[in-house]
Amino acid sequence: MILMNDFKAEQKALRETMLASTSRVIDSGWFILGKEVEDFERSWADMCGSKYAVAVGNGMDAIEIAMRSMGIGQDDEVITTSMTAFATVLAIVRAGAKPVLADIDRESALISLASVERCLTSNTKALLLVHLYGQMRQMDKWQQFCKEKGIYLIEDCAQAHLATWQGKKAGTYGEAGAYSFYPTKNLGALGDGGALIISKSEYAERALRIRNYGQSSRYHHTEYGMNSRLDEIQAAILLEKLKLLPEYTERRQVIGKKYRESIDNSLIRPLAKPEEQSAHVYHLCVYTCNHRDDLMNHLKNCGVESLIHYPVPIHKQPPCINLPRDPCGLEESERHADSCFSIPCHPYMSDEDINDVIVAMNSYKGN
Ligand SMILES: *Cc1c(COP(=O)(O)O)cnc(C)c1O
Repeated sequence: MILMNDFKAEQKALRETMLASTSRVIDSGWFILGKEVEDFERSWADMCGSKYAVAVGNGMDAIEIAMRSMGIGQDDEVITTSMTAFATVLAIVRAGAKPVLADIDRESALISLASVERCLTSNTKALLLVHLYGQMRQMDKWQQFCKEKGIYLIEDCAQAHLATWQGKKAGTYGEAGAYSFYPTKNLGALGDGGALIISKSEYAERALRIRNYGQSSRYHHTEYGMNSRLDEIQAAILLEKLKLLPEYTERRQVIGKKYRESIDNSLIRPLAKPEEQSAHVYHLCVYTCNHRDDLMNHLKNCGVESLIHYPVPIHKQPPCINLPRDPCGLEESERHADSCFSIPCHPYMSDEDINDVIVAMNSYKGN
């Protein structure tokens, strides 16, 4: 079976360096907020071309802390897409703000500007832009739009490590960018992890306090914070994996491009081609098909695993059915949820695996 992710292969390749990093932390006798986390924050900020990075417990917390560090909370509305991971929306709720759901563009599955315009109210405080599947598009438009409307731009970069638009990395267009290092992400820890990158020192300092109980100096607390810290062992492991991220990203891009060139089946539709000035990092390779379930069954019979990202749009999730949304509806999100599927795309796929996936996709004849 060609799997969506191959963790065993990945851990095998990195086993020795990860064990050495873990030993280093064990021997240091220092496990929370120490040198490894500081090193990782410096490296991640540099790699993203950002001034500050704050390492936290997971990607969802990174989004919440980003919002809280700029004072977004009660009575504030934050617009985001209904086609995303549940954590995107849960983070807004956890920050005490109100999510407002916008629809997507059919071609890219990314949030639609026209829909966001319809979601604006006098309470809108921020747009939480999700670089879904690793795509970055129209960043100049988004930046200008948020500036014009006087709202914050925050980027959910959980699927977009090293993605760029006009050479600038995900998370540097907005006030903050939130990353997840959940094991399946393009940069994954051996457990939970996350970070936010941030350009203003004022927000970065506040984020550093919020992740650690709102503590300003030992046992002095300026606000109710959280406990959301990346631990030293995960930071040490991420420092090693970081070195391979550019190479892994290139491999994903080779696979994405190969699929784009070679998958040719009138029953299967690819997403829009990445914009010329962008680097898509192919966290997921997503297609749509009107006979999706039948097609996924065919892939399985060909030995190819596939998954759905995401089968239920946010507004159809039980806790979200009454959330405010685009008054014209969220039809494209629903259509996408009913027809999308993701095929394997990870750095440990062999050329033969890639070819087998293409053959499986092209041999589908419909039901
Ligand atoms: C994974 C993911 C998150 C949440 O990250 P966790 O580390 O699992 O909390 C948020 N947003 C998107 C788009 C994601 O894919």
